[in-house]
Amino acid sequence: MQRRRFLKGVGAGAVVAGAAACGSERQGGTDSGTQQRFSWKMVTTWPPGLPGLGTGAQDLADAIQRNSGGRIQIQFYAAGELVPPLEVFDAVSTGTAEMGHGAAYYWKGKSEAAQFFATVPFGMNAVEMNAWLYYGGGWELWREIYAPFGVVPFPAGNSGTQMGGWFNKEINSLDDLVGLKMRIPGLGGEVLKRVGVTPVNVPASELFTALETGTIDATEWVGPYNDLALGLFRAASYYYYPGWHEPGPTLECIVNRAAWENLPDDLQGIVESACAQVNVRMQSEFMARNQDSLAVLMNEHGITPRPFPDEVLRELRRVTDVVLDERSAADADFKRVRDAYKAYQAKMATWQNMAEMAYHRSLSL
Ligand code: CA
Repeated sequence: MQRRRFLKGVGAGAVVAGAAACGSERQGGTDSGTQQRFSWKMVTTWPPGLPGLGTGAQDLADAIQRNSGGRIQIQFYAAGELVPPLEVFDAVSTGTAEMGHGAAYYWKGKSEAAQFFATVPFGMNAVEMNAWLYYGGGWELWREIYAPFGVVPFPAGNSGTQMGGWFNKEINSLDDLVGLKMRIPGLGGEVLKRVGVTPVNVPASELFTALETGTIDATEWVGPYNDLALGLFRAASYYYYPGWHEPGPTLECIVNRAAWENLPDDLQGIVESACAQVNVRMQSEFMARNQDSLAVLMNEHGITPRPFPDEVLRELRRVTDVVLDERSAADADFKRVRDAYKAYQAKMATWQNMAEMAYHRSLSL
């Protein structure tokens, strides 16, 4: 693998260097068609204009066009405009679209292991995910898992740690969760199911009404920025943290392999750099907007966010391990990726306890 050799030469400048390390499978020589132009379709899993996620995907398309001096033209499609949101991966795999933007956990039907490249309950946060993907072998595993589908993945955004969700009643113990109907997809929903919650899926467009009318008792969405925009504080009063189920979801850019291999080296570099750029920018935007929106929720709408009780988090974490163990036993790829992820997270925790955790603690002394 050329990329392995390339990785050894990676120096300072984590994100950009990381981006350069990945994807340079086409090496050597300048391209004879440096003025060749490419016209790509980009499909996304996000509703039109969805703050942070949809706008971040648009930001990526703009960056590729601008940085390539227009040599890559991108026709951007929000969810449903060319293909439905959950068909984005297939569209890129088959070449209906050259590229897409979404989140790897949407493709668990293709590979259960894909979920680790977005987020898993009690997994790594955004900074830790980037360390794993860029420098800890995570990206390499991701490329391996997507290779059979003819799809090349790139980290391209992160929402940061999400919120635990909106509830129509106080959660003081595990018993308070029993019987609740909650909108929560994926592994988080599977974990809650084991403690008596009924997880359901509700599209964003119907979420407010479902919560307000009592069709559901609780919902997670994203964080203060998106939750405020959706008006969820008008439908439920109890806002819990942390988002144990989505501690730092990575968003992805996916590119059709043939389309990727058609690009000359310099344009491949431009796509990689644009992904790295958006990866940082989206995470920064969420960090900035979440705190602004949290202030609005607290000061203008009287919302007082509460932490989940320790007892609840402890049990959810225990059940998460049970669920992940079961999946590992049933799926070799899942086990391989989970083992790598788990080992990296454990190693990272030792450092984080001395670095960010200890630092933040020092601010509250
Ligand atoms: Ca969420």
